[in-house]
Amino acid sequence: MSSTESPGLYIHVPFCRTKCPYCDFYSVPSLSAVHVWAEALCKEIVAYKDRSGVFGSLYLGGGTPSVLEERELALIFERLFSHFSFSPDAEVTFEANPDDVTEKKLALLKSCGITRISLGVQSLDEGELRALGRRHTAEQARRAVEKIRAGGFSNVSVDLMYGLPGQTASQWMNTLKSALEYRPEHLSCYQLTFHEGTPFGRMLQEGRIGRLNEEEQRLFFLMTAETLESSGYRHYEISNFARGEGFVSRHNRKYWRRVPYIGLGPGAHSFWGGIRWWNESSVTSYCEALKGGRLPIQESEALTDEQQRIESLCLGLRTSEGVDLPLLRTYPGFEKVLSRLEDDNLVQVCGDRIIPTREGFAVADSLPMLFL
Ligand code: SF4
Repeated sequence: MSSTESPGLYIHVPFCRTKCPYCDFYSVPSLSAVHVWAEALCKEIVAYKDRSGVFGSLYLGGGTPSVLEERELALIFERLFSHFSFSPDAEVTFEANPDDVTEKKLALLKSCGITRISLGVQSLDEGELRALGRRHTAEQARRAVEKIRAGGFSNVSVDLMYGLPGQTASQWMNTLKSALEYRPEHLSCYQLTFHEGTPFGRMLQEGRIGRLNEEEQRLFFLMTAETLESSGYRHYEISNFARGEGFVSRHNRKYWRRVPYIGLGPGAHSFWGGIRWWNESSVTSYCEALKGGRLPIQESEALTDEQQRIESLCLGLRTSEGVDLPLLRTYPGFEKVLSRLEDDNLVQVCGDRIIPTREGFAVADSLPMLFL
């Protein structure tokens, strides 16, 4: 089995130095529990060691994995590589924030077998970085990329965000074009979401900040895709762009292709044999469960055939691989919907696949509903 088709392994590192006001990922803004969490994670690794064959990818995400010190990183990697098997060409991704990137940490990551660094840059405008509550400056982001390159990493992904409060199209283009000067192999460009319960969500509700209207969202999205495609990037998922097939995120592609994966760490999700389960998200409950000899699973569900079909449709329409025509044929009235989407230039038929166009990507979340 190739590393693209074999399962993925995800490790959730639930710690950040501070909490960004827009973020609704599960993470705690304190490093005091890192040691206890690392011990619990090692127990969870041992508990899963016989459950799978060979993994094609490993992804350490968060939270902020780069807050971990060399001691914890060495321990976790030693456990991972001694209890799980990985294919020789496995993609091993590590998420980092620019302010944590040091030559020493990079040397350790290299020696541990990390093949890909995903850098959380978000913006290269100093005012925007401050408004986003980020801890780094644009200059630190630039230096981090230089250090990563000097550390021997040839697969670097940069995360950016657009649609920030008060951001103009030209400010966004400045950030995007500055990021292109780093020649990253991969870019993820997300539109800022104002999640309920976050400081940004509250500020939006109170009218203290604004957001893009629908037409502006579409224009920012199209501008992003046009700029990156004309710079040689392949738009392979709504928010993701790669400098050629070799730099597509193999781990994330498993989620969209519904390839099985195991997630370890607080709040991590797993999908295996048609069953989905997820861990306790609180660090305390997660650690207590493992300390007591239990797996920290909060809940699980067996997906029905219908749920799996809907998932394939929704996920497929987010990517340039699209969906199988035979899958669409199972929905009554699909021909009418398909021909309307083709007329509106939202999808194209390529052999037996339905592929969203760039305009289709801009409204990809609403496409599956038209068939359902
Ligand atoms: S560093 Fe990332 S995970 Fe942590 S609070 Fe900020 S956006 Fe969320």
